[in-house]
Amino acid sequence: MKLKINKKTTIHTNHTAQLIMTILSLSLVGYFVILHIDIFSQFRNLNILTNRLRLLTIVIFIALVLGQTYMVLLIISKNKEIEKLAFCDKATNLYNKAYFIRLLEEEFKSNKNDKKAIILINCGTIELMKQFFEGKMVDQLLLEKANALKKLNIDERNLFRYSEDSFLVYITGYHNEDSLRKIGDKILALLDNTTHKMDCDAFIARRLGILEMGENYKNVDDIIKHLEITINKIQDLESDKHWFFSDEIQKEILFDKLVEKELRKAAHVGFDEEFYLEYQPLVESKSNKIIGLEALARWNNKELGMVQPHKFIEIAERTQLIIPFGEWVIFKALEFLKQLESVGLNHIYLAINISAIQLLQDDFIDYLANAVERKMIEPQKIELEITESKFMYNYEENNRKLDLLRGLGITIALDDFGTGYSSLARLRNLNIDVLKVDRIFIENIINPYEEDVFVKSIIILANQLNLKVVAEGVETEEQKQYLLSENCHVMQGYLFSRPISAEKAISLIKKNNPRAS
Ligand code: C2E
Ligand code: CA
Ligand code: CA
Repeated sequence: MKLKINKKTTIHTNHTAQLIMTILSLSLVGYFVILHIDIFSQFRNLNILTNRLRLLTIVIFIALVLGQTYMVLLIISKNKEIEKLAFCDKATNLYNKAYFIRLLEEEFKSNKNDKKAIILINCGTIELMKQFFEGKMVDQLLLEKANALKKLNIDERNLFRYSEDSFLVYITGYHNEDSLRKIGDKILALLDNTTHKMDCDAFIARRLGILEMGENYKNVDDIIKHLEITINKIQDLESDKHWFFSDEIQKEILFDKLVEKELRKAAHVGFDEEFYLEYQPLVESKSNKIIGLEALARWNNKELGMVQPHKFIEIAERTQLIIPFGEWVIFKALEFLKQLESVGLNHIYLAINISAIQLLQDDFIDYLANAVERKMIEPQKIELEITESKFMYNYEENNRKLDLLRGLGITIALDDFGTGYSSLARLRNLNIDVLKVDRIFIENIINPYEEDVFVKSIIILANQLNLKVVAEGVETEEQKQYLLSENCHVMQGYLFSRPISAEKAISLIKKNNPRAS
């Protein structure tokens, strides 16, 4: 289907300078017209004007008007060239962010009611790609993508390189939401079908956030923020899609703001007031015994009630509050390990979730080592879980830190395995001891007699690499039996126990393994 984009798409640029020049030039032309008419009528009054002279005067008059018009056009075109230089992204030859902001500011001032929308195209993995491929190659890829966008058949001044890894398309005069969706599809198709295919092409993300600019928008920052949130929404779901900014997302933004405010308050008064840890058993497959517990943070806020960990962890990471919060989690978790020891549960290890942001702090290892030493805890009882996708962004640095942590005797688990970017080749070089297979792959095991290639091959690979495999999110007996038959080492999930309080965890372990207490 051929897509039609309204070619009347307009752009309102600030032509104040051209306007002044035009007025000046037209006044000059006007002055000449009056002057000529004046001379003309005086000659007529004197009755001395011959036909030839009259013709000459007219020719001079026309020449003057044409000369003036040419000058005005020349000035306007020079101005445009200068403008393009100032507002152009050199790498892609598209207009830049500054020009986009100027365009929107002009739009806010004009009170036109035609439909306007902005599409943000996020190629999100550029930073990651530069770790794998030569910078030049990645730049070339971006140029290819920019050229592909030019095929959109849209006024060039409505295409922008917005940031290192994002483009913007400004659309006006479209019909309805469906037309925007079609434009979104067309963009995705164009990005996929670039002329030169490159090795790194497969790694580039293609996510579109679409925002219709209603009356409410009076500020560029809000628009960009809302588009970015929309794009993050796609990131959570799947890649290669477009998503509309909606009321639902608007509500989420407001909720996020409240969470952030309350989180800042909590950090100020101390996390002890409203936060606590729950513990979820880790069960050894072959013995069916609890061998460890994973500490999971919980937040019961006065205003918001129970807040989902995914939500507050994400906001804590964005605001860097994860650093003091993470220290609090470690402190509480180590206290619990002491409590386990005090009731005779010496064989239980504790898995603690840490964020890649914590790991990147210069003093993280010192903090942990000191805390472990002060509390006189055997480091072997601590397993740190780090999420695969976040870890990969600073691969070299993170991997070096993991080596140091393992040197202290701490075990390292790669959490949510299968959802990130680690290639199998890279897995060999990772300083980890455990692979924690993401819940999504366990969910797929519905029928134990049907082969699940992913889980099966992960277990084979892990055995080759001497890694322990933990399956999380085990909910059914069928899943358990399948994992047992494939020799998965450890399981965790609602089938065994939900996350529970410290006291309940202690009594569950005692019941599960009476010999140990
Ligand atoms: P995660 O580390 O992957 O934790 C496992 C999540 O799956 C937990 O959700 C747990 O309650 C849930 N779960 C466990 N078994 C099952 C099951 O059988 N079925 C289903 N449907 N779900 C199951 P929770 O507690 O909501 O935590 C969500 C995420 O928040 C965690 O995912 C982790 O990434 C993060 N998180 C929690 N506590 C902390 C923390 O102290 N520090 C950091 N950095 N992240 C944390
Ligand atoms: Ca975890
Ligand atoms: Ca996980």
